Amino acid sequence: MIIRKPDYYDRFQCIAGECSDSCCIGWEIDVDEERQAKYRAVTGELGERLRTCVDWEEGHFILQGKEERCPFLNHENLCDLIIGLGEESLCEICREHPRYYEWYDGLTEAGVGLCCEAAARLILECEDKAGFMEVEEADDLQNAEEENEDAELVSVLMKARETAFSVLQDRKYSIWTRLSLFLTYVEELQDALDFGNLDEIEESAEYYRSAAFEVNESNDQGKISAYETIVSYCKKLEPIDELWPARLNDLRDHLKDASGFLEAEKKMFDVNHERNYEYEHLAVYFVYRYFMKCRTDGDVYSKGCLAVFCILLIRILDIAKYIKTGCLCKEDRVQNAKNCSKEIEYSEENLALLAEMFWEEGFEKIAVCL
Ligand code: SF4
Repeated sequence: MIIRKPDYYDRFQCIAGECSDSCCIGWEIDVDEERQAKYRAVTGELGERLRTCVDWEEGHFILQGKEERCPFLNHENLCDLIIGLGEESLCEICREHPRYYEWYDGLTEAGVGLCCEAAARLILECEDKAGFMEVEEADDLQNAEEENEDAELVSVLMKARETAFSVLQDRKYSIWTRLSLFLTYVEELQDALDFGNLDEIEESAEYYRSAAFEVNESNDQGKISAYETIVSYCKKLEPIDELWPARLNDLRDHLKDASGFLEAEKKMFDVNHERNYEYEHLAVYFVYRYFMKCRTDGDVYSKGCLAVFCILLIRILDIAKYIKTGCLCKEDRVQNAKNCSKEIEYSEENLALLAEMFWEEGFEKIAVCL
């Protein structure tokens, strides 16, 4: 079995007590059946705590207090289960988070999720184009159901995704022109996918891999209305934590002063233009993680829109931060990317609602302002 992973993947390490937004706070933590059996057998003080701190019927830890902390997260934000029983005692979700996987026949793609600040730092870290590596490993990650996949469809879509990466990483163009092109490309792919026309997907992939494109004229009025649309979409979603609605109100208020917002945006990009590769890495992250899911649901359009939507949302959060403090350091963008990821990516409901809105309202029209 081949494991494909981003080139930063092996450098991921949880920063535990140093984390400013621990995943052991505010998230329901399932205890898988295998681990439940092991936890039942633990003796001593930890055994006692396990017996009272796990909801054995529902199979999750009982979160504590208003903050909803994991009952084993101590006052130094370290895990008492790791301290007392070792890392191998963790349940699956604690062991794996924030890693994610996508399974194919003979291939597993792995990555680390942007909702974790340590992962976000890695994703945004390097100035070079993001790449992937492949290693051969024992096949204990294989999902049996993937063996029946349509191999031809997977192969054609993989090539189409390669083209998407090359469009997004073509530094001849601004990142905004690339995102706009990418959306146009995805629309064409959707048309071909609707008719199951694999030849057309291949032709389109071939064309976008090598074509030269006109550079978009940026349109200030269009930009502000696009930003307002993004904030209005967000307001329809379920807030993942109590800070999120306040952030959205903040964005809405900043956008009321359209000329001030655009001026701040220009200044921010002038100062930080050499860090535009961070948006490129985000685009590659979203496409790597979501694009291939279209092989099962036939919807490549909303996967493409999702990538562009999240990057624009992060861009608006960046501008708001710049207006407030007069600067945007690397860590600010890490936090904005992480917050966007938590709100959008880590809620199945929000992902589904956004996909519906993209289709109903024709999100690609937003690309004209990029
Ligand atoms: S969010 Fe990431 S760095 Fe923070 S505690 Fe969780 S896995 Fe560790």
